[in-house]
Amino acid sequence: MTTKSAAAAPRATVYGYPRQGPNRELKKAVEGYWKGRVTADALRDTAAELRRATWRRLADAGVHEVPTGDFSYYDHVLDTSVMVGAIPARHRAAVETDALDGYFAMARGTREVTPLEMTKWFDTNYHYLVPELGPDTVFTADSGKQVAEFREALALGLTARPVLVGPVTYLLLAKPAPGVAAGFEPLTLLDRLLPVYAEVLADLRAAGAEWVQLDEPALVADRSLAELNAVARAYRELGALTDRPKLLVASYFDRLGAALSVLAKSPVERLGLDFTGSAAANLDELAAVGGLPGKRLLAGVVNGRNVWINDFEKSLSVLGTLLGLAGQVDVASSCSLLHVPLDVTAERDIDPGIARWLAFARQKTEEIVILARGLARGTGAITDELATNRTDLASRAGSALTNDPAVRARAAAVTDADARRSQPYQERAAAQRAHLGLPLLPTTTIGSFPQTTELRTARADLRAGRIDTAGYDKRIEAEIREVVSFQEETGIDVLVHGEPERNDMVQYFAERLTGYLATRHGWVQSYGTRYVRPPILAGDISRPAPLTVRWTTYAQSLTGRPVKGMLTGPVTMLAWSFVRDDQPLADTARQVALALRDEVDDLESAGTSVIQVDEPALRETLPLRARDHDAYLDWATEAFRITTGGVRADTQIHTHMCYAEFGDILPAIDALDADVISLEAARSHMRVADELAAAGYPREVGPGVYDIHSPRVPSAGEVAGLLRKGLEAVPAERLWVNPDCGLKTRGWPEVRAALENLVAAAREVRGTL
Ligand code: GLN
Ligand code: ZN
Repeated sequence: MTTKSAAAAPRATVYGYPRQGPNRELKKAVEGYWKGRVTADALRDTAAELRRATWRRLADAGVHEVPTGDFSYYDHVLDTSVMVGAIPARHRAAVETDALDGYFAMARGTREVTPLEMTKWFDTNYHYLVPELGPDTVFTADSGKQVAEFREALALGLTARPVLVGPVTYLLLAKPAPGVAAGFEPLTLLDRLLPVYAEVLADLRAAGAEWVQLDEPALVADRSLAELNAVARAYRELGALTDRPKLLVASYFDRLGAALSVLAKSPVERLGLDFTGSAAANLDELAAVGGLPGKRLLAGVVNGRNVWINDFEKSLSVLGTLLGLAGQVDVASSCSLLHVPLDVTAERDIDPGIARWLAFARQKTEEIVILARGLARGTGAITDELATNRTDLASRAGSALTNDPAVRARAAAVTDADARRSQPYQERAAAQRAHLGLPLLPTTTIGSFPQTTELRTARADLRAGRIDTAGYDKRIEAEIREVVSFQEETGIDVLVHGEPERNDMVQYFAERLTGYLATRHGWVQSYGTRYVRPPILAGDISRPAPLTVRWTTYAQSLTGRPVKGMLTGPVTMLAWSFVRDDQPLADTARQVALALRDEVDDLESAGTSVIQVDEPALRETLPLRARDHDAYLDWATEAFRITTGGVRADTQIHTHMCYAEFGDILPAIDALDADVISLEAARSHMRVADELAAAGYPREVGPGVYDIHSPRVPSAGEVAGLLRKGLEAVPAERLWVNPDCGLKTRGWPEVRAALENLVAAAREVRGTL
C-alpha cells in the first residue's frame, strides 16, 4: 500500500483516555477529599500528575496528538455544564462559595440539595450527570479548565487537542429543569449556547490550540429534521468564526446516517467516524455522499469499547479505501478509551496465551500507532507487527476456548419448541395457582438482602485464606437462616434466600461458567468514583456444575413457604460483560441461555416452584437506531425463553427489570412469556402498571411499592396507597406486592421496617377486596 504524496503523514490519536490512574489514584484522592483526608491542593496535584503521566505515555507510544480536557474529577458532561455556566439554581450558592465543593454538590448532592440526575451515556455502562436547562437558562463561558489542561500538555512540549462535548449533543443530553413545563426542548437554546462555545474556542485558539475536538455522539441516533437542521446551523456558525481553531467533529458508537451529509457540507475541517461493529456501514455511507473532499478524516478503526485485539489487515484495508474518500486520513480509536481497562499486562492471572487476544487502553493505543505507521509507510513498515497480529488472531479463532463442539452443537440444535413453555400462559396460571396456593396480592422481594459488613468480611477472609471454603459456606448458611426466619416472621409469602453468596449479580455467574474470564485490575469507570470490573465473555459458554441450587435448596429446607430461585438472565449477563466480537451477539446470548436453562431445570428438579430470571438490562442494550430494535429484541427475548422454556406448567417463572422506562418495549416484555414480572415503579407512582394495562398485558405484575434507592422507610399507609393505585390498572388476581429492586445496598433496620410496612399494607388492602 502506498500513500498519496500530496497528503501529510497520517496522525495517530485517541479521543480520550481512562482517568483513573494505574492504581485508581483518582478514586482514592477524590474520595479522600470528600472525607476530609486529602486537601484540595493535594487532589489537584494528584490529578495534574495523572494527566501528565497519561499524556507522556501516549506520546511515548507514538501518538501525535494527545487529547486534553477529557480528564474529569467526576464526569465530563458535568464539566461541560460548568464550562457553559449551566449551574442549576439550587447549586449556585455552593458553587459560589467554593467551585470544587459546588461541583461535587452538583454531582452528589448535599444534605440541603439534591444532585443532578444521572443516566447512561448512550449504550455504554458509563453514567453522566444530566444537564438541567429551561427557558430562563443563561449561558456564560468558563474556559478555565479547558485552557489550563491544554497549557499543561503544551508545557510538556506535546501537540495537544482539546476535547469538548459538542453543543448539539450537550443540548440533546439535557432535560428540562425541575419546575419547567414538560415539552420544553433544550435544543431551542442552541442560539444562546453557540456564542459561549465561540468564546471557549477563541480562548483555546489564543492559548495555541491548532485543533479542537467537538464530540457529537448524539448524532448517531435517529434524529429529526429539526435536529439535523440544528446541526447544520451550529457548525455553519462555529465554522464561520474568524478567530477559531480548526474543528474536528467526532462521532462514535454507531454510523452517522443522515447527519453525515450535513457534516460533510459544513465548514468543519475534520470529521471523526466510527468504523467498528455496526458503524462499519459508515464506509459505504461515506462513499455514497461522495466522500469528504478537502477534509481530514479521523478513522476510528480500533474499537474503543471492547477488549479484543484489532484485526490489522482488515483495518488497513478500510484505511486504504478511506484514502480515496477524504483529503487526508488519520487513525484513532472508535471512541474514547474511557470504556476499557488500562493495561492487559497487569493481568497476571490470565493465561498468557489468552492475554494475547486482549487489548486494553494501553494496547489499543499501540495498535493505533502501528496502523498509522502502516498507512503512512506501507505494510512493509509493520511486517513484524502484522505477523504477530495474524498469529494472535489465529490462536483465538482456533482455540478450544472459543470452539467447544458440544456447546456449538447444542446451540445449533435449538428449536422453536425449546424457546416455548409447554402450555399457554392462562393454563399455566391456573396450574400455578393450584400448586402454590398463594393469597391475593402475594408479597415477595426482588432477591438480595443487605450485604452486611460480616458478609464482606467473610469474602475478604476467604480470599486472604483466613477461612476455608467450608468456613465461608457456614457463614453464608447462617446468613440465609437469618433472612429466611426474618421473612417468615414478617409474613412474606414468597421467600428468597437473600443472595448473600453473590459479590455481584453478573460476576458471580461469570466466575462459575466456562468461557468467561475475570480480571484483577480491569476497572472501568461506571460513574464518578465508582468503578466496575466487567468479566470478559471470551469463549463458548457452558456450565460445569450447578451455580445456585445448593443455596436455594438450603433456604427451602428451612421453611414450608415457597422459596424463589434467583438467576441473572442471559441479556444482562451480556450487557454487563465485555462480549466476544467474533460471532453475532445473538449466538453468544443463546449459549448463555442454554447454560442458564440447565440451572433453571436443576432448580425445578430440586423442588423449586418459583424461579426468577432477572433482566434489568433488557432495555438499556436496545440499539441506538430504531431500525435495529426488532432484530435485537428478537434474539434477546428468545434467549430469555430458552432459559425458562424447559420447566413444567406449574413452575412459576418471574422476571425483574429496573433502571429504565419500559414504555417502548412493552411488546418485548410480553414476548418473554414470563408468568410474573416485577418492575421499578415507586418513584413514578406506579405509572408502569398503567402502561402495561393500557397495552393489554395479560400476566401478573409486581410494580415496586418501596423505593430502595432511598434510605427512607415508606409507611404502611403510603404503600397501601400505591397498591390501590396499582389496583386501578391491574386486577387483584394479577397484582404482586414487592420493592422496586434488590435490597443489597440498604441497611437491615430500614429493610426490616419497610418490609413490615409492606406486608401490613398488603394485608390491609386484601381486607378491602
Ligand atoms: N435479584 C437481584 C437483586 O435483588 C436483582 C438486581 C437488579 O435488578 N439490579 O439484587
Ligand atoms: Zn432491579
